[in-house]
Amino acid sequence: MKIGILALQGAVREHRNLLRCLGVETVDVLNPHDLHGISGLILPGGESTTVGKLLVRYGLLEPIAEAGRAGLPIFGTCTGLILLSKYINGSAQPRLGLMDAHVERNAFGRQLASFEADMPIPALGDAPFHTVFIRAPYIEKAGGDVTTLLSLEDKILFAQQGNLLAAAFHPELTSDTRVHEYFLRIIATAQTSQ
Ligand code: GLN
Repeated sequence: MKIGILALQGAVREHRNLLRCLGVETVDVLNPHDLHGISGLILPGGESTTVGKLLVRYGLLEPIAEAGRAGLPIFGTCTGLILLSKYINGSAQPRLGLMDAHVERNAFGRQLASFEADMPIPALGDAPFHTVFIRAPYIEKAGGDVTTLLSLEDKILFAQQGNLLAAAFHPELTSDTRVHEYFLRIIATAQTSQ
């Protein structure tokens, strides 16, 4: 099994290292051909307007959206969450538009632009998860098919919709592999239902 990591910009190496710790082979995705033969795709953090433009320029936007609609498991962190979502408040920037979610970018205000906190995420087990937020977005509202895995007040920070997984935080910046293992379980489910 091979997992693709969109390698246009951002925290590519960190995701790669974490997947290697789990014994998973990765491939950097830079053009549509790289999507062949992957079992899942990770969209790393970065800057979503830039990555969106690059997705268009490299001819990747439509092939990835098509693969996601066809059931390819896709996991987006931060910028990846923004790109996965259908609605981005106040912005017409390019996106994959797969997840039924309304997103607010850079949503935590200046004082909380970056912060870290231990959060309980029951889907990952009893121990809290150390979440790292960097100019993070949140999901303001989501459709009925979206399962919230972590929220703070009414802000959704980690969510799943079938084959799609989105985190406002950066699990690749910790050594805790549980979020990536959760994604591997989504991939395993997708493979058995094929
Ligand atoms: N603020 C960035 C954006 O809008 C996301 C930040 C991140 O990925 N760490 O794309």
